[in-house]
Amino acid sequence: MTKPLTMPAAANTDDYQPSVRIRAAIATRDRHVCQYCRRAGIDPVIDHVTPASWFAPGTASAVVNATTNLVTACWGCNSLKGGLDLAAFAAKLSNLGLPKRTVDAMVKRVQKATHRPLR
Ligand SMILES: [Zn+2]
Repeated sequence: MTKPLTMPAAANTDDYQPSVRIRAAIATRDRHVCQYCRRAGIDPVIDHVTPASWFAPGTASAVVNATTNLVTACWGCNSLKGGLDLAAFAAKLSNLGLPKRTVDAMVKRVQKATHRPLR
C-alpha cells in the first residue's frame, strides 16, 4: 500500500533526505537527545531546522542538508514542528503556553547544537 503523493509548496522534499552516514553523525553529535525537548533514549528523527520545503526548487542538497540545518528530534517534536522553521516553532510553543524562558532555551539549544562540529 502506498501513501498518496502530496505536493510540497516548493522544493521536492524527497530529494533532501540526508544520507544514513549524515543521520548517524547528527545523532551522535546530539548524543541521541531531542534538541527540542531534551528527551533522551529516543529513536531519533533527523529534522531539518529550516524545512526542506522552505527552500526554492533546485536548491543544492548540500545547502538543505547542511549539518547546520540538521538536528536530532524525537517523533513527538518532529510531528509538532511539522513544516515550521525554528522561529515559527518557537512561536507555536509560546502560543501553546510554554514559558518564554523554556522556549528561548530551546531555540538557543538548537542553534548551539547545529553549530557543534561532527566527529
Ligand atoms: Zn522532543
